[in-house]
Amino acid sequence: MIELRNLERSYKTGHMETWVLRRVNLTIQPWEFITIMGPSGAGKSSLLNVLGMLDDQWRGEFEFDEETVHRMNRKQRADLARRRIGMVFQSYHLLDDLTVAENIDLPLSYKDIPRTDRQGLVADTLDRFNIVGKKDLYPHQLSGGQQQLVGIARAMIHKPALLLADEPTGNLQSKQAKEIMEMFRQLNEEGTTIVQVTHSEANAAYGTRTIELRDGWVHSDTAGEVADTAEE
Ligand code: ADP
Ligand code: ADP
Repeated sequence: MIELRNLERSYKTGHMETWVLRRVNLTIQPWEFITIMGPSGAGKSSLLNVLGMLDDQWRGEFEFDEETVHRMNRKQRADLARRRIGMVFQSYHLLDDLTVAENIDLPLSYKDIPRTDRQGLVADTLDRFNIVGKKDLYPHQLSGGQQQLVGIARAMIHKPALLLADEPTGNLQSKQAKEIMEMFRQLNEEGTTIVQVTHSEANAAYGTRTIELRDGWVHSDTAGEVADTAEE
């Protein structure tokens, strides 16, 4: 599904260049549910931003299914991301001037879906996330946890090929976090590839492969360990 080769990313501040991703090589299969762990500053969010095609200041090669992302322009990447990817941000990134229902509807608006089907999907999703009563409110009228739920609902509603989630349950009660992780598991079983960044061992346990980043490197990868053994 995804192939990253020699992915590099750095930031320049004045004369200083800080490397956040250094020659990351990664192959992700379509059925995987991956957990990315690692200390703060290791490059986890930066990697998700590349995978989610929000960042285009990296070097290296990036294949997404049949598509050669490193040869695409910004618009082609944005189109691909809208069609195939759902992203849950740590800081939610909801649109302030849209209601809860409108935020959740956003991914559907990029697809060719009849209006009544869209309304039905939004209604089902509001129901599933227990936020029907909030549908006409704006993000600033919600608690952090409620905003987080809206962000997750928006990322999942169109059943993306790839779901990226950065500390998706950090603001939720543990019971609610567990319900969200069960929804992720179900989505994964229905065919969505998932990559989550988390410090939570409980959330990590839902993944089937754990990659640890340190200082912009892949420090360990449970799939790699399996592959190494297989080669011997
Ligand atoms: P993590 O998600 O693992 O905490 P990040 O990917 O957010 O790590 O950040 C990796 C490193 O890149 C950190 O040292 C961070 O300060 C730096 N960084 C991230 N974004 C920027 C930016 N826009 N400008 C400069 N440095 C950045
Ligand atoms: P999130 O993980 O939800 O993106 P963060 O607070 O980690 O939230 O980062 C918010 C934004 O700030 C990101 O776009 C990131 O690239 C940028 N950022 C992170 N660290 C730095 C830094 N040291 N200098 C400048 N920008 C940074």
